[in-house]
Amino acid sequence: MNDMYKKFGIADKVTEFSEEILAGLEERFKKIDETAEYNQMKVIRAMQDNRVSAACFAGTTGYGYNDIGRDTLESVYASCFNTEAALVRPQITCGTHALATALSANLLPGDELLSPVGKPYDTLEEVIGIRKSDCSLAEYGVVYRQVDLLPDGTFDYDGIRKAINDKTKLVTIQRSKGYQMRPTFSVKQIGELIAFVKSIKPDVICMVDNCYGEFVDKIEPSDVGADMTVGSLIKNPGGGLAPIGGYICGSRRCIERCSYRLSAPGLGREVGASLSVMTSLYQGLFLAPTVVASALKGAIFAANIYQKLGFNVVPDAVEPRHDIIQSVELGSAERMIEFCRGIQKAAPVDSYVTPEPYAMPGYSSDVIMAAGAFVQGSSIELSADGPVRAPYAIYFQGGLTWPHAKLGIMMSLEMLYEKGLVSL
Ligand SMILES: *Cc1c(COP(=O)(O)O)cnc(C)c1O
Repeated sequence: MNDMYKKFGIADKVTEFSEEILAGLEERFKKIDETAEYNQMKVIRAMQDNRVSAACFAGTTGYGYNDIGRDTLESVYASCFNTEAALVRPQITCGTHALATALSANLLPGDELLSPVGKPYDTLEEVIGIRKSDCSLAEYGVVYRQVDLLPDGTFDYDGIRKAINDKTKLVTIQRSKGYQMRPTFSVKQIGELIAFVKSIKPDVICMVDNCYGEFVDKIEPSDVGADMTVGSLIKNPGGGLAPIGGYICGSRRCIERCSYRLSAPGLGREVGASLSVMTSLYQGLFLAPTVVASALKGAIFAANIYQKLGFNVVPDAVEPRHDIIQSVELGSAERMIEFCRGIQKAAPVDSYVTPEPYAMPGYSSDVIMAAGAFVQGSSIELSADGPVRAPYAIYFQGGLTWPHAKLGIMMSLEMLYEKGLVSL
């Protein structure tokens, strides 16, 4: 193996340091494999129960009436997430689109939307109208309220109780921390929050932004009372194979409304051809539990390496995980750049390009990104990014296979080591 790593230019010292760290991770990795095994059974059962067959992979064109592949896939997702119904389609262009569809389908003028977990993900700010934008919910007369987390990262139950009123129609809960420093919530915590909200107002709709959380745990938000659980297929549940798509799993009533919002009133789920992507969506879901396990191992490996080297890592080396994101505070722009170059050099695609920080709309500082993905922008594939400003935190995620995630992290370390930015 050392010879193989040498071919990538990795120094013996880096390989030895990595192997030492790995030796201490056996128990953690075993637990991750157990979760993957459980979730793999869940997916296979869902496929069997819904009689997935070769006919499901054929695809349709035009209106897509009677698309058995599409309808069966939606039943499979509903079984998997333990919900009455699901909307899973290539016409849902990304996670933000899935979330926007779920929100705008279930909120009417005069209704209030509440986030009891602080600020939502950046792209949701324009959907909601926190940042002014055309066609936002605010423009349609939906009022937004937010209750921030307490300083220790827990729910402000008093604040939430006060914020819920007779106009409150929908509560949105984001599972993953996104680009914030707050903790990611466990499914159990989300369940407690939903129970609390419903104890105050039973008919309020609880939606969970499940991006990056799918298959990390044995249960999903839909198992603990969420009325809609929403995410992207180019993250966890697409298993790296889905080339596009989003999902919304939930109650029959909520999903019906989502389908009318997505296509048109009166048409709903009956239209929407699956073209030729169905095999990838099925096969991606089938692979997703083990792909997520690979990404989790990579995240834990990175946390342990960089914590050992004295950097602040979130989550830390030992705490439980509720999503696949790992952040490492590298403390300088130079280290961020080298880290990303290492990830890029390990990629199967575009390994020869050199990531550079650049200005991106919506960010006040330059952003650096490393990704060499088969699917454009796919963040279940090994990738790293972050705004180049204090505390110089890199957000690292994905890895379709554990050996690739391992190589990426070793290459990142090699780059830092070569430049004298860490000492081993
Ligand atoms: C990625 C992400 C989104 C948006 O998904 P896109 O597919 O990038 O539009 C929303 N919420 C969270 C927490 C995410 O991580």
